[in-house]
Amino acid sequence: MPTVRYGAIACERHENESTLDALLRSGAPVSYSCKAGTCGSCMVRVVDGSAPARAQAGLKDSWKARGYVLACVCHAEGDLTLAPVDADTQVAARIVALDALSAEVMRVRLACDSGFDFSAGQYVTLIRPDGLARSYSIASLPGEDLELHIRLLPNGRMSEWVRTAARVGEAVRVLGPNGDCFYTPGRPEQPLLLVGTGTGLAPLYGIARDAVRQGHTGPIHLIHGAVRAEGLYLDETLRALGGVHYKPTLLHADGPVDQVVLGLFPKPAGMRAFLCGDPAIVQTLKKKLFLQGLDLRDIHADAFLPAA
Ligand SMILES: Cc1cc2nc3c(=O)[nH]c(=O)nc-3n(C[C@H](O)[C@H](O)[C@H](O)COP(=O)(O)OP(=O)(O)OC[C@H]3O[C@@H](n4cnc5c(N)ncnc54)[C@H](O)[C@@H]3O)c2cc1C
Repeated sequence: MPTVRYGAIACERHENESTLDALLRSGAPVSYSCKAGTCGSCMVRVVDGSAPARAQAGLKDSWKARGYVLACVCHAEGDLTLAPVDADTQVAARIVALDALSAEVMRVRLACDSGFDFSAGQYVTLIRPDGLARSYSIASLPGEDLELHIRLLPNGRMSEWVRTAARVGEAVRVLGPNGDCFYTPGRPEQPLLLVGTGTGLAPLYGIARDAVRQGHTGPIHLIHGAVRAEGLYLDETLRALGGVHYKPTLLHADGPVDQVVLGLFPKPAGMRAFLCGDPAIVQTLKKKLFLQGLDLRDIHADAFLPAA
């Protein structure tokens, strides 16, 4: 079995075990969240040994060149010596505002200490002072502070901290941005279809405003689904938002959001869709829109997968 070394820790990596799981089993202080190669929080540097290309998929070229790999998808055949990545992969930030948008959703605003380029709708990984990491979509526009909408989950490690312990002025770290769920200005006449449930609204709120700001000329349809009326947590703001056709929809009154969408847009071919939030709903809608004729290249989706 190959050996994995990280600082003073050395352990054997079992067959079918990821490098991350081997490190965690041995008590190594490595952050992680998705364990699926997307959030980036378990990135480490290879000091000695050879990691498979899959462990670098999606990383910036400059990070690949530095030997960075994602430990959660790293299954190297030989021995590996690893070290933490340089501090410049993460941006130091401070919480500058914490507001309840509803009983279930907190808005967290973060000011980054150094420049942080992002597009509205991408996601960042928020890293707490103790290393706990979770991904959140960006609701704000480039040039503004980072705005995140965090759903409060009973016993949720990050969300419970945000609700009860986090304070304005608190230092955190931010990794990213990642994801291709953002507006690009080509084809400004193309109808946009933005669909999200729960806090899946966060990236869509950013994307819709970004599209308006960048002079999008086609219709912008924003459909927000919730179980109950309290879940429509930006209802007033969205009703007042110029340039956007906002359609709130409630599960019990209107039916599942995918049925609502296909009822409104039975022939979606030619539209550009952004789908965010509950993984099952995102997956169902993506499939249905594709089967109804929407080109997969015109579907951008971020499923809010829970942390592993
Ligand atoms: C790309 C991406 C973008 C995301 N963007 C956002 C966002 O903008 N806003 C947001 O609120 N979340 C978002 N998430 C989800 C977020 O990363 C966390 O998973 C979520 O906040 C729960 O973390 P926690 O530490 O509070 O709960 P955890 O401690 O991780 O989980 C606590 C309990 O809740 C369960 N649980 C976790 N997630 C859910 C869920 N969605 N529904 C029901 N039960 C659940 C867990 O299984 C566990 O039992 C995103 C995820 C991804 C991958």
